Amino acid sequence: MADTRHTKVLIIGSGPAGYTAGVYASRAMLEPILVQGMEPGGQLTTTTDVENWPGHSEIQGPDLMINMETHSRAMGTEIISDLITSLDMTKRPFTAQSDSGTVYTADAVILATGARAKWLGLESEEKFKGFGVSACATCDGFFYRGQEIVVIGGGNTAVEEALFLTNFASKVTLIHRRDELRSEKILEDRLMKNEKITPLWFHELVEVVGDENPLGVTAVRAKHVETGEITEIPCKGVFVAIGHAPANELVKDTLETHMGGYVKTAPDSTATSIPGIFAAGDLTDHKYRQAVTSAGMGCMAALEAERFLAELGDGTE
Ligand code: FAD
Ligand code: NAP
Repeated sequence: MADTRHTKVLIIGSGPAGYTAGVYASRAMLEPILVQGMEPGGQLTTTTDVENWPGHSEIQGPDLMINMETHSRAMGTEIISDLITSLDMTKRPFTAQSDSGTVYTADAVILATGARAKWLGLESEEKFKGFGVSACATCDGFFYRGQEIVVIGGGNTAVEEALFLTNFASKVTLIHRRDELRSEKILEDRLMKNEKITPLWFHELVEVVGDENPLGVTAVRAKHVETGEITEIPCKGVFVAIGHAPANELVKDTLETHMGGYVKTAPDSTATSIPGIFAAGDLTDHKYRQAVTSAGMGCMAALEAERFLAELGDGTE
């Protein structure tokens, strides 16, 4: 028979939003359970230097997330390595099924499932995923020592990945569809000064080219967005960094979403369209998508869950 665990507050996700919600919910004596998901620590575990987390002029992403986990646990959050596979929000207590078979029931739920990397959707990109095509420079950069690499995108992620990859690669070509980056100016400055990086403006990746046996990338073809002219760039690695989409699979058919799937919350609040379900972090934020804003929303969600439970009385109907 499936193991069933009841909690006043179930937190789904272990990024800055989830762990911060854990700190606040624990300090409100709500004894929260936090389920970590497939990526314990969230997106910051896929990066190196974080330079905009207050209190640290520089800290490694994975270290910051271990600190947050330790802090949340020390305050009393029960942190469980498991994955929520479905969530029934039709009645309280809410019921979450998990990959391990445990069923979690909760009087309130804080959704903090964050965001995941977007892909271009090319057939050749799919074919070479894991064989030269990646969306995580910190995970895979090391495999390209002394090789040529391309990075696709013009945001903070693309620029940071291009800079990071110069630690390994002989040359990095940044392919961007405009001639203007949307990254922070400090990062743009570093990119422009780095002799190993060549930007290729007004181009879009149209095909990843490679060998069949063994499967591996040898080049990419990029098309000029105005003239349509194709340029072939030899490379061994392709890093796609074109943004992130909200990880809304558990709730996209039940909760109100907007702006391409971000969970909609009430103004100045983390309350979703279902009372007792709160959403925090990149899952709901189409605008800022920063660690510090996610943590802030995690705090708000825990405070709002506390108020919701207090109004409910003993937490049951
Ligand atoms: P995430 O960090 O996305 O975490 C989501 C969590 O939900 C994960 O733990 C995942 O396992 C879990 N989850 C998902 N589905 C389930 C499920 N079904 N069941 C259980 N758990 C689930 N921001 C900055 O402020 N500074 C930076 O320097 C910076 N650098 C970045 C570098 C990179 C390469 C990237 C990709 C992002 C960077 N960001 C940075 C943005 C920052 O990482 C995000 O804004 C932040 O991590 C969002 O936090 P979150 O808690 O909402 O979700
Ligand atoms: P982003 O800011 O949304 O940028 C995505 C980039 O990819 C844009 O330059 C966009 O081009 C391009 N792009 C999107 N779709 C494309 C397509 N189909 N083909 C070609 N190019 C495409 O995403 P991000 O860089 O991943 O950043 C996500 C969030 O995380 C942001 O809020 C960012 O600030 C945050 N973050 C912060 C840091 C930091 O603080 N150091 C580091 C990483 C990420 P256009 O510009 O033409 O739209």
